[in-house]
Amino acid sequence: MATIDNLPPLRQVIETHELAPKKSLGQNFLLDLNLTSKIARFAGDLSQCDVLEIGPGPGGLTRALLSEGARKVLAVEKDPRCISALAEVQAAYPGKLEVINADALELDVSQHLTGPVRVVANLPYNVGTELLVRWLTPENWPPFWESLTLMFQKEVAQRITAQPGSKTWGRLGILAQWRCECHTVMSLPPEAFTPPPKVHSAVVHLKRRDTPLYDADPKVMNRLVAQAFNQRRKMLRSALKNFVPDMEAHIEAAGLKPTDRAEQIDIEGFCALARQIAPHMRQG
Ligand code: SAM
Repeated sequence: MATIDNLPPLRQVIETHELAPKKSLGQNFLLDLNLTSKIARFAGDLSQCDVLEIGPGPGGLTRALLSEGARKVLAVEKDPRCISALAEVQAAYPGKLEVINADALELDVSQHLTGPVRVVANLPYNVGTELLVRWLTPENWPPFWESLTLMFQKEVAQRITAQPGSKTWGRLGILAQWRCECHTVMSLPPEAFTPPPKVHSAVVHLKRRDTPLYDADPKVMNRLVAQAFNQRRKMLRSALKNFVPDMEAHIEAAGLKPTDRAEQIDIEGFCALARQIAPHMRQG
């Protein structure tokens, strides 16, 4: 197996630091440094960027990001067992790698990063969608990051890149594509990981748009889309009943049919409806 640095092979790292994978932490490791280098390259030229990596584990992707020339990597890992393994990577790349032993859902990373920032991660499946939604729905746009290059279960990747009218079209695709250009850049079979997960995986690259595709208040969009897809097979007039008074009239004023179902509505349609109802929504 090719090496990209003078550090030991990842199997040896796992053995030395006793990193037997834990299912509860979504630990499916990538041990092929050719593969991790390929993923790192999908994030583009990192030499002028800080990179945020969630869940470095034994450090395969971390090493690839550093070997590809990242200006700095901030690696946030929940499992304290991984910290000694990552210390060896720190020693090989002095001043380039900051490791924080924390739960990524609890940590404010902003004070540890200098822009421009790109996020690259083989995410733990149990928190991947939650992290993505948080990154896509910040208080202000543009967000702290320029792009997200993320490994997901294939089914989640399909939802992010879905087209209106398809079975996978929903909240995730709308939130992602409204404010980012989204592409699946790589598919991986279970055997690419140690241990192999039950499902196939895919890497999605999301590049933020400076301005969203269509104008709409993000808070209204989030609530509207969540409610509409809560009952995706229902007609809009019943799925959104009582969302605001006179909802059916607002649906028509936005150029949509009250008998349409959420899965048929594209981003332009949802933004039109969000603009239409915004003045009629209560704060909060
Ligand atoms: N990046 C490594 C690789 O590609 O081989 C490991 C990826 S593994 C799928 C997910 C990693 O995320 C594990 O190392 C796990 O310990 C870590 N993790 C799980 N939950 C986390 C959380 N809430 N915050 C930070 N790291 C977490």
